[in-house]
Amino acid sequence: MRAMPAADPGALGETIAARLTELAAVSDEPGRLTRLYLGPGHRKAADLVANWMREAGMTPRMDAVGNVVGRYRARDGGPLTLMLGSHIDTVRNAGRFDGALGVVTAIEVVRAASKAGTRYPFAIEVIAFGDEEGVRFASTLGGARALAGNFNLHALDEVGEDGVSRRQALVAFGCNPSRLAEEALSPDRALAYVEVHIEQGPVLENEGLPVGVVTAIDGVTRGTVEVDGIAGHAGTVPMPMRKDALAAAAEMLLAVEERARSRSNLVATVGKMDVPGSAANTIPGQARFTLDIRSPSDQERVGAVSDIKETIAAIAQRRGVTARLSVGHEVPAAICDAGLSDQMAQAVESCGVAPRRLPSGAGHDAMAFDGIIPFAMLFVRCRGGVSHNPKEFASPGDIDIAARVLSTFLDRIGSQ
Ligand SMILES: [Zn+2]
Repeated sequence: MRAMPAADPGALGETIAARLTELAAVSDEPGRLTRLYLGPGHRKAADLVANWMREAGMTPRMDAVGNVVGRYRARDGGPLTLMLGSHIDTVRNAGRFDGALGVVTAIEVVRAASKAGTRYPFAIEVIAFGDEEGVRFASTLGGARALAGNFNLHALDEVGEDGVSRRQALVAFGCNPSRLAEEALSPDRALAYVEVHIEQGPVLENEGLPVGVVTAIDGVTRGTVEVDGIAGHAGTVPMPMRKDALAAAAEMLLAVEERARSRSNLVATVGKMDVPGSAANTIPGQARFTLDIRSPSDQERVGAVSDIKETIAAIAQRRGVTARLSVGHEVPAAICDAGLSDQMAQAVESCGVAPRRLPSGAGHDAMAFDGIIPFAMLFVRCRGGVSHNPKEFASPGDIDIAARVLSTFLDRIGSQ
């Protein structure tokens, strides 16, 4: 196994950054980056990425859900495939690194291997997923779920804002949704899925590290809390006689925050609070707020939800209001493969970087492979932790390190 030529260590990062700029110019809207699934920007981006794959020594194709898949054959025609990828769809008014970074980095790492004449004992498929963000249709991770074989076929009937269904959009894009199930991967032939992605958070920047190894994609519990008190005149009801729903909700919010702050592997957010019928001179009779609780440990998250439920009930009782917590949405954590993550951490170390491990609070294509094939992720520092925004930025130097880590990782897996 030959390592990538290291004569010009910055070149790969510069090349990837330049291609990301080129890809970011491909948009559905003039003047800002919006590339929705199966839209005109997606069409052009898919063609561009397929060309890059071809030039890099891969054979590209488009699958039944609009993913672009580039195959780099194995050294000796071996049956196993290692998948590298991320997504090329974006949110509206997006940055140019979210998703695209993982796709372009994988292509350039394969290009470097191809140039150096390196083949691995497994084939590599670089995948540009078309539908991670879930902007156009209701469900997310459509591209990765289809490949992983856990796509819910009912999602084909989802209709976007333009009145077009996912099925109709696929056909118009030249895809054949009836082949969707049969094109799913065979878990016994897929070695693993590995994704490079910007962190979308501030941890690596805060610690002065260019990359980090992901331990897990956080599980999530979402819910709402409805607090009912008694509305009253702001002037006439003495303080001890009040049943103020908003004051109770405020105390509950702070208790949620305090519970999450007491742990290092838990985050909890009240992102929205409504006070129905509120007025400046009325004691609020009702308050509603949302809960979003995440952790890489399901045990930690479930424990927190249970504690929060108890605390909310205690606050409600003390204040003479009623509170009801309803859980709306629950997704378990997706744990990265320990062996692959160790290999990734060793690749990070051999590139001269301390191997920081961190969970992902955001969802990624990789989670679609949970329980199907092993997966691992590498995070790249992004400036200010800013993402889903045109200000999103990862430096060519950091991208270069990520590319070298990925290349070293492939060499390590290939020589096992
Ligand atoms: Zn992303």
